[in-house]
Amino acid sequence: MTKKIAILGSTGSIGQSALNVIEALGPEYEVFALSAHSKVEILAEQVRRFRPAVAALTNSTGPDGVDYLKTRFSGTILTGAGALVDIAGMPQVDIVLFGVVGAAGLPAVMAAAQAGKVLAIANKEPLVIAGQILMKTARRHGATILPVDSEHSAIFQSLQAGKASEVNKIILTASGGPFRKATAETFANATKEQALAHPTWAMGPKITVDSATMMNKALEVIEAVRLFETPPEKVDVLVHPESIVHSMVEYVDGSVIAQLGTPDMKTPIQYALTYPKRVPGIAKGLDLAHLGRLTFELPNRSIFRSLDLGFEAARVGGSAPAVFNAANEAAVEQFLSGRIRLGTILELVEHCLQVHAVRQGLGLEELMDVDRWARAEVEQVLKNRRQLMV
Ligand code: MG
Repeated sequence: MTKKIAILGSTGSIGQSALNVIEALGPEYEVFALSAHSKVEILAEQVRRFRPAVAALTNSTGPDGVDYLKTRFSGTILTGAGALVDIAGMPQVDIVLFGVVGAAGLPAVMAAAQAGKVLAIANKEPLVIAGQILMKTARRHGATILPVDSEHSAIFQSLQAGKASEVNKIILTASGGPFRKATAETFANATKEQALAHPTWAMGPKITVDSATMMNKALEVIEAVRLFETPPEKVDVLVHPESIVHSMVEYVDGSVIAQLGTPDMKTPIQYALTYPKRVPGIAKGLDLAHLGRLTFELPNRSIFRSLDLGFEAARVGGSAPAVFNAANEAAVEQFLSGRIRLGTILELVEHCLQVHAVRQGLGLEELMDVDRWARAEVEQVLKNRRQLMV
């Protein structure tokens, strides 16, 4: 039977890779809906190529984008932020792939869970911000949550070698990013160009900056704690610059099961779409003899304080991970627009965690309030700082 797929965030890095995967998988997998935030030209090209029933443009502030799309697409066009929620709940959709950057995709993730869909989640925010609610909702409505984040896909695959009760530790690998060997000063003062030069993975700008600060790994620690419902004490981070071992699971008998592959998001995307089956893929195969060696080292925690902050947010739980995520997102935006230095991102996240009074058992709306508060706090701190400097 044909699987009908909705790709939310189809013009981003994950969305484009997903479309290449689907094209190669053949007629068993069909694109039912595509959504873009504002890149209407790319979306128009995608609908021409894949002929979905639905296309959505979430940032249609003016009529230009929609008009442009209308002249090129005769299917249903949805607009505005609510479009993602609508698509996620459509009865025709089997699998919803989430490639939306940031917290914006959260309501749609919840809608898909409530509709009992298969959720292929590439963005970590839903699990980080509202992981407990999401896992509970998915269980209640029979939804399946499949990780697309390469590390979590690796852990998910490695977890199939034993029972949850037999797991000793989850070992998240990290490339270490472009500042793995940098001094504290170089790291703190790094520019946008330096931060965007990732050694092994080609990704969108937000996640590339997160890799440079290792905030990405810290978010992944929280993501793993939520997704695999495991205490943070059972999660470790190991730097592995080659990005070949995508993560590992250590069992109680001392056996470590890992998933290896070329650093290509097409592999975890495909696994989530075809799970529990494995089919031939388009990602390049792994040539270990050519690679020669795989190396591992501990992260430098005095520079990458992001890790300790992430573990702490995971341990405290409640609203802390939402603050962690939102403060980081707001700070990265400031960094990408050239207003702050790289090291300031960590300072801002730490500040927000310090001044926030953690609350437990919050609903989605309250968590979104917390998210907004953290963003506003980042703005406020920077505004005050600028006034002080004048
Ligand atoms: Mg990852």
